[in-house]
Amino acid sequence: MKRKKNYFAGPAVMPLEVLQQLEDELIDFEGHGLSILEASHRDEPFEGMYFECLDLVRSILQIPDNYEVFFLGGGATLQFSMIPLNFLAPNSTADYPNTGTWSNKAAKDAAKIGSVNTYYDGKATHFSALPVPSEVKPSPGSSYLYLCSNETTGGIQWQEFPQTGDVPLIADISSDLLSRPLPISQFSLLIGGVQKNVGPAGATLIILKKELLERQNKGLPSYLDYSIHAKENGLYNTPPSFSIWAVKLALQWIKKNGGVEGMAQRANHKASLLYDVIDQSGGFYRNHIEKPYRSNMNVVFRLPSEELENKFLQEAQKADMLGLKGHRSVGGMRASIYNALPTEDVEALALLMRDFQEKNG
Ligand code: PMP
Repeated sequence: MKRKKNYFAGPAVMPLEVLQQLEDELIDFEGHGLSILEASHRDEPFEGMYFECLDLVRSILQIPDNYEVFFLGGGATLQFSMIPLNFLAPNSTADYPNTGTWSNKAAKDAAKIGSVNTYYDGKATHFSALPVPSEVKPSPGSSYLYLCSNETTGGIQWQEFPQTGDVPLIADISSDLLSRPLPISQFSLLIGGVQKNVGPAGATLIILKKELLERQNKGLPSYLDYSIHAKENGLYNTPPSFSIWAVKLALQWIKKNGGVEGMAQRANHKASLLYDVIDQSGGFYRNHIEKPYRSNMNVVFRLPSEELENKFLQEAQKADMLGLKGHRSVGGMRASIYNALPTEDVEALALLMRDFQEKNG
């Protein structure tokens, strides 16, 4: 089978090696004589693999011992309501930025639960920049300050993060999870869907500082209560077991390929291949994000007209390139170049872009 080049924003490309392992062991999971699809989450074959997976996350991301690590279902979207339900105290405020689609969605859900202060609004600058971390200050009495580390739709990424003192810092890291080292101890809670940089849809990684639970609102229904999941290491109810197994294999692949430092180096190199084409195109390709904030996960660009954009997409399709159409809310092009996308596939896209400009510029 000829594999297509997959630039989709998520679910997204996975390492071929991991897919092959999944295939090889689908029927006989790690030699246990049953498939992962059939395995009880209360029995040793699954539990052994699960705790190994959590240990791998801890070691690859260097997560300190005072953090809980587990997986939940419900996508990152469920976290948009769980975060304020658990941690937005009555008569208090939570600080959210509007840096694009995903922080905005989270803020909208939080505003249904309590009071939200917008500490930065990118609308005025067409979402071309992010707040300067050293200038970000939580509002007085704030329950927490939130951010989205990489806006998947807008293609904009935080490089450094605010110091928020006693106010917990909470981040959605769905689209750059395990693609770079992170200063974990600066955060009280990190959440991220795995279906972009790590594995198939289903599991959401939760990294939660134990102290944060002291500030939790009480009386929540069980599934929405982080402390219940923390107490059971994410095994309070049936976890998305297949997704977690694939994540475990992908973590081994990440470790073998240089860990998060290795992933970050590759990501920077791949991103620069595309940004170089854009910057050297004399304005034929445009990326409106200020350079320090450009994402090395989702590279967005526009062509001189929608007509040319459609023609470009047709050419890409002929070259077996998938998923280059920008998010439906913003249009244009977007190349998602996550951990598992081979450098050659980014080189091929850069070549197509140069060729296309030569013929149509
Ligand atoms: N946050 C970010 C940054 C995302 O990119 C996405 C999905 N594209 C989500 C949250 C929502 O994730 P899910 O679809 O898993 O709920």
